[in-house]
Amino acid sequence: MNVRGARAARRMYMLTYGAEPSPKSISVRGASDEIIWCPIIGAAVETAAGWVLLETGIGRRLLEDETSRRSIYASREQPWGVGEDPFLAALQAVGLRPEDFSLAAVSHLHVDHTGGLQHLSAAGVPVFVQAGELSFARERAGIAEAYYAPDYVSERILWRELDGDAELAPGVWALFTPGHTPGHMSYRVDLPESGTWLLAVDAADLSENLNDRVPPGWTADAGDVPRADNSLRRLLREAENLDARLVPGHDGFFWKAVRHPRGGHR
Ligand SMILES: [Zn+2]
Repeated sequence: MNVRGARAARRMYMLTYGAEPSPKSISVRGASDEIIWCPIIGAAVETAAGWVLLETGIGRRLLEDETSRRSIYASREQPWGVGEDPFLAALQAVGLRPEDFSLAAVSHLHVDHTGGLQHLSAAGVPVFVQAGELSFARERAGIAEAYYAPDYVSERILWRELDGDAELAPGVWALFTPGHTPGHMSYRVDLPESGTWLLAVDAADLSENLNDRVPPGWTADAGDVPRADNSLRRLLREAENLDARLVPGHDGFFWKAVRHPRGGHR
């Protein structure tokens, strides 16, 4: 056990909810509009305070809502989810159900991240989100910004609003990384054997963002470009300082490389 042991989480399963086609220019500033396939991912982390779910994927409701889906995904190819209900199927793949979680978090409220919120509210699981993300989603964003209100507008979702960085559970932190959207956050997970992991989520979709230090190509608020640049720099700096594994949010090849071993990453 390394020095981080005392406050570390116990283990982490990687979750795959599905995949989506996306113009590369959204992920990488200055890139072409060629369509790339992006995995839709998350993580389930066991901690001393119970299971913590990071990200909820793409939901069945959107997949079945052809009009909204096609206006968000303009390409001929369309997103898909695992199993009949991607949220339940992704959890089931690692032997978990919504009610097994003590708490959950969503990095931002784009449609490929909000798919499980209704399941979590039905199971009574509180969900951490940045306050600024929730207000942006409620007051300013819509289909044009890839926000799908039926997933997140509900009296029953048990929101826990954050304002910046926060420790969510022993060994699991939210890192405020705005830019891609106004209230975007990434995660830090400390594990006893493999050390520190940083999950960039959409602050860095691809390895290319990290290797070439190229920020995302698109921000939900056009004025947020400098914040996106700062967030990418912050993640790279933290990864260096913490000797962390930095996981991009939508990179197919990278994702295959970090598939968890049996029983999860420890
Ligand atoms: Zn996004």
